[in-house]
Amino acid sequence: MEILILGAGVIGLSSAYYLRRAGHHVTVVDRNAAVAHETSYGNGGQLSYSYVAPLAGPGVLSKLPGWLCRGDSPVRFRPSASLDQWRWCAEFVRACTQAQSDRTTRQLLALSFLSRTLMHQMVRDEPSLDFNYVRSGKLVLHRDAHAFDAATALLEFQRTLGCEQQAFDANACVKLEPSLEHLRDRLAGGIYTESEDTADCYRFCRSLEALLVERGVQFRLRTNIDALHRTADGRVVAQSGGKPLAADCIVLAAGAASPRLLKPLGIRAPIYPLKGYSLTIPTRATSIAPRLSVTDFSRKIVYARLGDRLRVAGMADLTGYSLTPDPRRLATLRKETAEMFPHAGDHSAAVEWTGLRPTTPRGTPILGPTPYPNLWLNVGHGALGFTLATGSAQLLADWIDGRDGQIDRGTFALHG
Ligand SMILES: Cc1cc2nc3c(=O)[nH]c(=O)nc-3n(C[C@H](O)[C@H](O)[C@H](O)COP(=O)(O)OP(=O)(O)OC[C@H]3O[C@@H](n4cnc5c(N)ncnc54)[C@H](O)[C@@H]3O)c2cc1C
Repeated sequence: MEILILGAGVIGLSSAYYLRRAGHHVTVVDRNAAVAHETSYGNGGQLSYSYVAPLAGPGVLSKLPGWLCRGDSPVRFRPSASLDQWRWCAEFVRACTQAQSDRTTRQLLALSFLSRTLMHQMVRDEPSLDFNYVRSGKLVLHRDAHAFDAATALLEFQRTLGCEQQAFDANACVKLEPSLEHLRDRLAGGIYTESEDTADCYRFCRSLEALLVERGVQFRLRTNIDALHRTADGRVVAQSGGKPLAADCIVLAAGAASPRLLKPLGIRAPIYPLKGYSLTIPTRATSIAPRLSVTDFSRKIVYARLGDRLRVAGMADLTGYSLTPDPRRLATLRKETAEMFPHAGDHSAAVEWTGLRPTTPRGTPILGPTPYPNLWLNVGHGALGFTLATGSAQLLADWIDGRDGQIDRGTFALHG
């Protein structure tokens, strides 16, 4: 089949990889001059297979008032006149039950474990991919003793879900990650997960692009999709510059822009952008920077070493589609980083970035068919797009070819 993939972020490129492997003729279209120039560019670099619990959970509603009032809180909300924003918030609140949160976590773990297997396979099979991939392991740090006790109490339950984790006191954390030495007295402890990886998502995308070009995938960059139209025979055609783009099948992977393209087709995708921030700090040979992936639990900030850089990411602003950074958010991220890893590198040379996480209220992506026989969705991966990219793409390729795939087709279905 001739397959058109709309969007050259990590989701579109991973889709292209598995669809090309399945023997299809694939063309990837993107409005930017280069691949991965939107949300897949500067993300946290976490391949976070065991930490997939959604933001929507029973504990969140009581924390929200505090978060929303404090300027330096991890989550921020600015009400707007947008009906989509209010509808998203209402669905988010409805998803904040224990039962829904548990269901979402199980669904996401199934997808993340599949993604981990596929990522390991891809790294093995494709030696040309060069993207600072490290099986780093992750240490989630707790400063608050109650929060650490609660996390420790969950370990047994986590094991039943397939996540092997260990609780370490402050001394053991420092032994594992010596760059935390100066925090020894302020740490309650940490949860260590050996099976987590880190990598540079942008470099992954660039490497994958090169590999796909070698394998005959066509790229049409600087090509804006103006609209998706329904044809008289009930199919969908993608329109660019007033002209239709020929294809037997279309995969929409346009990240946060996807709902706007779907709306005229009568499809409501409950995806809203959650703006996040990152800093990329150049390290030096003498730097005291973490080797492990580190998460500061209370601040919801992640730290990943990407070769000779330290990537720091966090914050979630429900403030619309603008990418304009809020200087106060960046100042908070800089301050936290300077406290956490003061000698990690040249903080003054940190590169600042913002991106829009394409987030669904429940936290699950939308994968699979639409009411239109030739239109498929691979969208809404929120804070986990890099982590879930391989599994989502492989499942979609299976389903497009009529194979069952390793996860039930209804799990991530539109309106599922
Ligand atoms: C601060 C931050 C930290 C994060 N950290 C992590 C992390 O550590 N681990 C993790 O797994 N995930 C993380 N994420 C989430 C992850 O980055 C996203 O889920 C992922 O990048 C989404 O990929 P995508 O391909 O769907 O979207 P995008 O990367 O945005 O790609 C969509 C593409 O579609 C194109 N497009 C859109 N509309 C059109 C149009 N009309 N015509 C043509 N082209 C179009 C865009 O140009 C873009 O290239 C983070 C996100 C943020 C913001």
